[in-house]
Amino acid sequence: MKLKAMKYFFFITANILFAISIYAQNTVIKAGHLFDSKTGKFLSNQIIVVKDGKILDVGSNLKYANTDKVIDLSNSWILPGLMDCHVHITSNFPFRNVGISQSYTTESSAFRALRGGYVAKQLLNAGFTTIKEIGNDANYASADIIKAIKNGWAEGPDIFYAGKIIAPYGGQTKGINIENEHLWDFEFIDADTPDEIKKAVRKNIYYGANVIKLVSGDNAYYNIEDIKAAVDEANKFGCKVSVHVMGGDAAKNVILGGAAAIEHGINLNDELLSLMKEKGTFLVGTDFSFDNWYAYGMDSLKAKFMENIIIDRLKRAYKMGVKMAFGTDIIIDLPGLNRVQTNLKILQSWKAAEIPSSYILQTMTIFAAELLGVEKSKGALEKSYTADIIAINKNPLEDIDAIKNVSFVMKQGKILKQE
Ligand SMILES: [Zn+2]
Repeated sequence: MKLKAMKYFFFITANILFAISIYAQNTVIKAGHLFDSKTGKFLSNQIIVVKDGKILDVGSNLKYANTDKVIDLSNSWILPGLMDCHVHITSNFPFRNVGISQSYTTESSAFRALRGGYVAKQLLNAGFTTIKEIGNDANYASADIIKAIKNGWAEGPDIFYAGKIIAPYGGQTKGINIENEHLWDFEFIDADTPDEIKKAVRKNIYYGANVIKLVSGDNAYYNIEDIKAAVDEANKFGCKVSVHVMGGDAAKNVILGGAAAIEHGINLNDELLSLMKEKGTFLVGTDFSFDNWYAYGMDSLKAKFMENIIIDRLKRAYKMGVKMAFGTDIIIDLPGLNRVQTNLKILQSWKAAEIPSSYILQTMTIFAAELLGVEKSKGALEKSYTADIIAINKNPLEDIDAIKNVSFVMKQGKILKQE
């Protein structure tokens, strides 16, 4: 009798839970124009059903319950949350007076984390639901920002994180005197052999990294074995390796060593670009416009020269079919502009290189997701994908600048902005 009563109890409980799961309120988005990131085209009049942070279904003729919460975006352009694969959220340097090394003595890791939290919120608010924080963040300041977001103390994008930058002796500093030899330890790990590189990779992962960033070619450059050591060690932990490198033999070693991406690659020639295409190496071009170069203190002539180099390299990389992911790399906000507005100045270079808007959007969504290794769960608006969804009021295929005004942001099913 006792057993019968228990069975009855479980039967009733199971039925109640089943009923709750059926009638639980889903969020339904009426999407006037929905970006199919895999084809680069917009589909008309779609319905997205969101449940438990994920996309339950997408289609043109979906039925939904009248108890569901309906968001009418019939007049908007709906995209997967945008991604920026090269940001430094904790950094901001004075306009035309950079002084990075000096900042190590005046800005603490706590101060940097607070700035990073502020910028993270800005990015999320502008539709960037995923970012790759690529290093230069003091003593692992971003690790704490990530924890704060996870704890619900702060709002920000999903952050892929590189930890400290691994580089040949001296990091990216120049001219530090011997008494201050370890000043750069604040943001870099010296690693000059494959064993040192492996240890540096493990250290970063221990402190929260899930991508690995090397710098090659600033003070010295890594050979193929060095890059391979980083890639092998990172892969053991399911992480990918990105390398800051401009071109030449340093870049060739990065490609042949099996890194997932070249960051910057400003001086990549056609031979290196075709090697990247062959090996499937991503280019995160961080394609500064004139204004972004000028912010570093260059005169107008030099800034224009650099902008032209970038536009030419972008054009060639696109024509040759090199995989690209969007990345901005801004560490100096332009006067009167916030970080996101400064980041998006680089769209000028993409436009000048005549790259189609649909392709630019793909570099910010599905291509970026592929580089981050999450293309099966992020970067597209499809069934079972994470519900990172944004909306804008103008057609971005007509002018990519439309993405500068995001009117709706949903991250993992939660609405964070609705204008
Ligand atoms: Zn950078």
